[in-house]
Amino acid sequence: RELPGDPQSGPRLRQVQGAAWSRVAPTPVPAPKLIAHSREMADALGFSDADVASPEFAQVFAGNALLDGMAPFAANYGGHQFGQWAGQLGDGRAITLGEAIGADGGRWELQLKGAGKTPYSRMADGRAVLRSSIREFLCSEAMHHLGVATTRALSLVTTGEAVERDMFYDGHPQDEPGAVVCRVAPSFIRFGTFELPASRGDTDLLRRLADFTIRRDFPELTGEGEALYGDWFAQVCERTAALVAHWMRVGFVHGVLNTDNMSILGLTIDYGPYGWVDDYDPDWTPNTTDAHGRRYRFGWQPRVAHWNLSRLAQALSPLFDGIEPLQAGLDRYGAAFVRADRDNVTRKLGLADCRDGDPALAAQLYGLLHAGEVDMALFFRDLAEFDPDQPALGPLRDAFYDDGKLRAHEDGFLDWLARYAARLHDDPLTPQQRRERMNAANPRYVLRNYLAQQAIDRAHAGDYGGIHELLEVMRRPYEEQPGREQFAARRPDWARDRPGCSMLSCSS
Ligand code: AMP
Ligand code: MG
Ligand code: MG
Repeated sequence: RELPGDPQSGPRLRQVQGAAWSRVAPTPVPAPKLIAHSREMADALGFSDADVASPEFAQVFAGNALLDGMAPFAANYGGHQFGQWAGQLGDGRAITLGEAIGADGGRWELQLKGAGKTPYSRMADGRAVLRSSIREFLCSEAMHHLGVATTRALSLVTTGEAVERDMFYDGHPQDEPGAVVCRVAPSFIRFGTFELPASRGDTDLLRRLADFTIRRDFPELTGEGEALYGDWFAQVCERTAALVAHWMRVGFVHGVLNTDNMSILGLTIDYGPYGWVDDYDPDWTPNTTDAHGRRYRFGWQPRVAHWNLSRLAQALSPLFDGIEPLQAGLDRYGAAFVRADRDNVTRKLGLADCRDGDPALAAQLYGLLHAGEVDMALFFRDLAEFDPDQPALGPLRDAFYDDGKLRAHEDGFLDWLARYAARLHDDPLTPQQRRERMNAANPRYVLRNYLAQQAIDRAHAGDYGGIHELLEVMRRPYEEQPGREQFAARRPDWARDRPGCSMLSCSS
């Protein structure tokens, strides 16, 4: 079914029917230069330091050359965007090079993002700018080290080619440096991969995709027929619940939770206008495109994920006689999220187990953090040093952004700390055990938006050192790193409303 592209104009843009992918080659770039790589990911794939340093590495991971056995393709998928069915989307600028078996026997798909046009590029150019590539590269690895399921990043290459973007959507496009990230994951299959054939009534392709995914990516599931499909959907629901609970634990806001950006493996995927909450605010979204409806705000991620799973359930329904197994899967999502959320409460507060009053204790704290405009990461991290025998705000004062709000809510916080102290007095963990439990759940270092933006500003001036520094710090987010305190600091005032530091557009 696939017609070859015209070498002059690139691949033919089209609706691809009856197929889940299209062969397409990356479009070469003028001057590939490797500016960063993940040593953990290189190790996992069996690349030595010499491999990474070779000119060939930059050529391959810019899309200028293929290694033996690579057979590049772009995947076809659809999706619900901001609640509306959007039809065929597909990999408009991502091209998978192939699969590699890692040093430990794991199977990894290697995918270039920004590697040129595909049959799914629609009106766009198939490229990615350096700033968004830096953000995807750094955050993929930061999330991994935080213990949050995610697609990974092997490499970040500049292309030597300018890419035109209208970053502020003000009708003044500008040239920006282009880049290619090599993303790595066991699978890049999305909810939308199943939605597209379902929307076309192509039950044959839908079933083949489901069978393929289960066989390749869920080998632990046995059974057959509808029971197998039901077990699989329940697994997807459980993994998604665990994923979203991790996001809520670390303060990550995805920003564009369309169903084409939901991984069937429960990985964080497609880093666009994501952000990290500085001052705790469940209503915050970094995405300027979503500033009015705020559908993808921090605090709504659990319910949005459920809505997205419902869309997946609908897409999979032709594989079932009745909807009961799908309903059961969605119920599993709710139960798994409640469980994971209770786990977050005990770990973040350093409790041995979750008692009936504990979620309410946590909810009261979150209300205060919001009202008092308090930095989420700093507060929880410093709470590990709290002494229940002498309840006081003490070092927690550092987490407040606004002195007036601190004064206004000081009594509320002192009341809460007294309740917390009473709860701790009734808890079996020793102070040392409590501190360790909390410090393993409350990161000292997260990829704050302004930190990434500073690395981007430096990169635009030709200095890639900021990327390397952040990559290094984010490798050990739960450890105190003496001399690197500046990476744990509260967002500075200048960064509050600066583009890139708080709000981001989808332009990437
Ligand atoms: P996103 O909002 O980044 O998940 O992208 C939504 C859709 O737009 C996906 O199908 C992407 O592949 C496509 N897309 C985004 N940016 C580009 C681009 N520069 N060139 C081609 N397709 C793109
Ligand atoms: Mg996407
Ligand atoms: Mg607010």
